[in-house]
Amino acid sequence: MERIYIFDTTLRDGEQSPGASMSVEQKYEVALQLARLGVDAIEAGFPVSSPQQYNGCRLIAERVRGPIIVALARAVQKDLESACEAIAPAERPRIHTFIASSPIHMHHKLNKKPEEVIEMACRSVRYARQRVEEVEFSPEDATRSELDFLCRLIEEVIEAGARIINIPDTVGYAVPEEFGAFIGKIMAGVPNIDKAIVSVHCHNDLGLGVANSIAAIRNGARQVELTVNGIGERAGNAALEEFVMALKVRQDILPFSTGIDTRQIYNSSRMLANIIGFPIPRNKPVVGENAFAHEAGIHQDGVLKHRATYEIMTPEDVGRDAGTLVLGRHSGKHGFLKRLQELGLVLASENQEIAYQRFLELADRKKEVYDDDIFIIVRDQIGEQLDTYTMSYFNFYSGNMAVPTATVRIESGSESFEEAATGDGPVDAVFNAIDRAIGLSTKLLEYTVHAVTPGREALGEVSVTVEIDGRRFIGRGASTDIIEASARSYLNAINRCKAAAKDSGGGTP
Ligand SMILES: [Zn+2]
Repeated sequence: MERIYIFDTTLRDGEQSPGASMSVEQKYEVALQLARLGVDAIEAGFPVSSPQQYNGCRLIAERVRGPIIVALARAVQKDLESACEAIAPAERPRIHTFIASSPIHMHHKLNKKPEEVIEMACRSVRYARQRVEEVEFSPEDATRSELDFLCRLIEEVIEAGARIINIPDTVGYAVPEEFGAFIGKIMAGVPNIDKAIVSVHCHNDLGLGVANSIAAIRNGARQVELTVNGIGERAGNAALEEFVMALKVRQDILPFSTGIDTRQIYNSSRMLANIIGFPIPRNKPVVGENAFAHEAGIHQDGVLKHRATYEIMTPEDVGRDAGTLVLGRHSGKHGFLKRLQELGLVLASENQEIAYQRFLELADRKKEVYDDDIFIIVRDQIGEQLDTYTMSYFNFYSGNMAVPTATVRIESGSESFEEAATGDGPVDAVFNAIDRAIGLSTKLLEYTVHAVTPGREALGEVSVTVEIDGRRFIGRGASTDIIEASARSYLNAINRCKAAAKDSGGGTP
């Protein structure tokens, strides 16, 4: 069996999904889970683009062991310096540099002649090789490049020291047969290709990301770039869980292996969805709520008699057999921490205590605490420590014949602000009271609420998108009381705005 290297770009390309941005601590948590999942490489970010990107890469390089840690850089000096510095502490650092190679990009975006592009690419690869052992090179928009030029560019960057050549289908335009043949032509057209590993990076604009990736490995590619839940620019990237399970299920015609522990797939998927607040569609392959649910009577009957009748893989294969273990107040700290561990949520000891206290609070309000509740507790309390403002008290008065009125007390360090306001409903009243207490004016663009688990006493999770000073911030909060969840989510968005303001003051290290 030929080994396929799994390059995960959830934290770089995935994080570029609109609304999927993560704090430095959240990225670190996800990176730890990716290491448990067994990916070969983690692309941690694009360090030159912001201090937060730089700090995320740096923290992951310092603390995550196992996978190769990769940082992205355009083929320009300042990007490369920042990327090299950010991943210097990694056990195995890799620089991933790129430049566009299609006529349309070279002419309109870069305003460079093809020869200049080759020169810039080679200079960047040589520079990066002086500082790290492994350099990956991507010709951006490769699928729309002229083949002869592309082959010459690849030959020269391999000569300059690149050891991984990544062929991205940047705009998600390729179809499988064509893309497979394209990889085959590169394998045949570049004389020194045996000195490098060929990689592919497929976008999912036409829903063909995984299919294109499979076509590529059948034609010689040995690294595939993927994201958990398929998040990424626009319609996203090829989904890691789908690609890996396709290889596992169809070993008969796809004789390839990976280093992925498939039993970590479900936890990885859920953890990411909870952190970024993107729900997983119910019918999403492998990780969706319905992926293993059999509805039709004939199917149910078949599965009960023999699972393989309608199941090509089992829930156990992807770590979904943990089932719905329900905790309650009497589960105790030991039971709670054991469940955290089973869910792949490894926390520092001081955070364990905070999470446990929140669990007890929740267990008081609702008898049964589900895994999804636990994910929310962990994310809410530990995901990001940016609580500039916290709410110590709120009260509201509402009814169909009353003017909704809310009072809040907001704490910030040793200061405390109390204000009351009216609104069109209790949520509006609470938001207005918070605005007054903090002295802020915001515009609410989006408000959604959903129940995390079944039952009337379920945790409600509220997500808000707020515009503050022309910038958008997403906030999330959960509680069994939706007014409280709304207030938490609103404060979370405001705290993110404050954290971003602090961040941008520093400049890129
Ligand atoms: Zn991409």
